[in-house]
This record gives sequence, structure tokens and C-alpha cells, in this order.
Amino acid sequence: MLSSQFAEKHGVPYSVVEFYLKKKLLQPEMRGGRYYFGSEDDDDMQLIQKMKRWGFGLRDIGAALTEQRFIRHSVNAPQSSLLSMLRNQQEVLGAQQASLAAAAHSLNQEIAHLSQEPHTPHTDGSGMSVEFLPLLCCPACGQLLDIYPEGILAGLIVAGMAKCVCGYHADINKGCIVGPATHRHPLRSTDVDYTEPSGLSLTMQEMIYRLRIWINGQLGLGSLSNPVVLEAYCGSLSYLLAEAKQLDTSARYLLCDPDLTFLSRQAEKLAVYPQASSALFVAADAAHLPLRKNSVDVVVDFFQSFYHASLTNEYLFTKLWPILKSGGRLVGCFIDIPPDTETYKAFITPGTQLQSHTLRFSYFTNQLAQAGYRVQSVECLPPMHQSGLVWHSDSDPLQYWLYTAQKI
Ligand SMILES: [Zn+2]
Repeated sequence: MLSSQFAEKHGVPYSVVEFYLKKKLLQPEMRGGRYYFGSEDDDDMQLIQKMKRWGFGLRDIGAALTEQRFIRHSVNAPQSSLLSMLRNQQEVLGAQQASLAAAAHSLNQEIAHLSQEPHTPHTDGSGMSVEFLPLLCCPACGQLLDIYPEGILAGLIVAGMAKCVCGYHADINKGCIVGPATHRHPLRSTDVDYTEPSGLSLTMQEMIYRLRIWINGQLGLGSLSNPVVLEAYCGSLSYLLAEAKQLDTSARYLLCDPDLTFLSRQAEKLAVYPQASSALFVAADAAHLPLRKNSVDVVVDFFQSFYHASLTNEYLFTKLWPILKSGGRLVGCFIDIPPDTETYKAFITPGTQLQSHTLRFSYFTNQLAQAGYRVQSVECLPPMHQSGLVWHSDSDPLQYWLYTAQKI
């Protein structure tokens, strides 16, 4: 048969036959300037193809073909050379096979390792969005914090550490930033669950609802792009947590409280809502919030006197002054508690340095103005009896004041 027929018979392109002819691996009969392939050439071609598949080089194939041709024309000649070559190659392929199997196993392990989510201490979905990182800074020296994430779940940082070159460091625990001076205490029976304010009277629950509606109307987030809203001392009656389902996901919310017990419980509750990634929980005293100067648009201060008074004689807004943007606003309510009442005596816990005049709304607004805020609106709600608050005596009417003020 001719070259083209031979190539077709063995399922190779003609150029391959040409190549073997050139290398003298195929040595067909030549007549009148043309090759004619016979059955011996078929045998040679089959041996070439088998040896190629077994991984032999051209030199070995050439030697085997020479031996095959010698045997073909001899009687009882042993195939010693070819057999030896094949046994050698068997060993070589066996070693390569083991090496490839080991490489494949190692590759599989690496792929499995890289495909796994990092180990995280919990799976409740709470975490810190990286969108909050530009808002953070060291509360001690004001420099940017370096974040060392140790657990990332669904793109949120759930565990890790925030460090400053000055030595300050805060843990990131379940997405909460936990400052060094954080309180942890077991929940008390009087702590109110924000979703179930069952300890409060119906009148008080209605009051809280009314306060929330009023704050909703006062936030004015619509005029701001990507606003940042802070609720410091969010405590158990947090406005932001109560409104969690309605929170605007284009805004960022900072929920801060010195008590990690409150915060971690509330972070877990918020985690079930899509709005969770818009919220950052910070466990730190207002004086030590790891937030950049001029980073907050609106501060929500729910139950002002209730929180500042239980700790110090200072108002919260003085602590928040640096991180509030110029033109930023305070939106809050203030409970006026007159001295010499049963409520006042119950409200003041022994040992605090609280002075009675700091619980009066007139003094509060005076202090706001002196601190550089312009009081914008003030509204007095009807006095309330029977709140259900543990420190409130029914005989004393509770006076709620609503206010907004702007940082000049
Ligand atoms: Zn620092």
C-alpha cells in the first residue's frame, strides 16, 4: 500500500508517517521513487505506537525495531533486549505512577483546604462589615487601627483584633468590637428585652412607641448620602434595635454600650435581619469609642438621663462631640426627674456622684448650648404615671422631653 493508505490504516496523519520515514523507524520497500508498505511495516508501526504510549523515546523505539527486524529474519532468536527494555520501562512507569498519585493526593488536600470556610467560633451570622473600617481609629491616640481578622463568614469579620501602634488593642468578638475597659455582668431580672418590654406598663410601652415614631421623623437621613447613625449607651431599650427591621441599609449604624452582655445578646438578635451588616456593635464607654473624629452624622440618645446619670455626672453629648460631624445632629429624649421625690431617691444609686440639678431638662439644654450645640426643637410630652420602671414611683409624674440639637 502507498504512504497515504498506510497512514489512514494506522489512524495517523501522513506527516507522522513522513517523520518516521525520515528517522528511519519505518523502512518500507521503495520502488520507482515511491514507498510501498507491507505487513512487516504494519508490525513496525504497531510497535512504534505501543512504545510511544509506554513512554519510550525515539532512540529506544529504534533499538526495539532493529531487534524486531532481526528476530523476524532469524529462527528461535530470543527477544532479550526488547523484553529487558519493557521491564525497565515498567519500573519507570510504576515509579511515575506512585509519584503522580502522591501529587494528586496532595493537590486534592490543598484544594479541600482552600475551599473550606475559615474556622469560626460561632455560626449565628453576626459579623462586622469591612465598610466600617474607615470609621475606626484608636481612642487613645487617634491613629488608624490595624485590623487582624481571624474569622470571616459571608464576607463579615466575626473574630480578630484591632490594634494600634501605640499599644491600644480591642478584640473583635462575634463581630462586636470589644474595648479593653468593657463591663461584663450577668443579666439582671430587671433588664428589659427590647423586643418584649413586658416589664413595662401599657402606658410606658405606648410612650416608647411614641418616642420611636418621633425619632424616626427627626432622623432626616434622606438628605444624607451613606449616613452614619450612632446610638451610644443603647442598653436594653435601644431605639435602633427596636427599629431593626426598618433600618435603612444604605446607612451605617453604630450601637455602642459599655456592657458587652447587652451588646452581644442584641447583636445575635439583629443577626437574623439583612440589616445586620449595616450595624456595628462597639462595647466601650462613650469616652473610649474607637471611632474617628467627624465620622458620625446623627446621634440617637434614647433615655439620656437614665444612662449618663447612672454612671457619672457628665452628659453623653460632651463625650460624643469629637466624633460628631460639624453640622451633625443629636436626636433624643430626656427624662426630667425633680429632686426631693421618691423617684429621685430610687433613681440615684448609692455611691454615685450625681448632682440633682443635672437631672433637670433646663440644666441639660443649658449645658448643650455651652458645649457648642444649637438646640433646634424641644417638645414636652404629657406627664406620665405608672410607667413600670423599677425606679419610678407612681405618685411622681414622669416628664419626657424630646429635643434635637445641631453641632455648630
Ligand atoms: Zn493609638
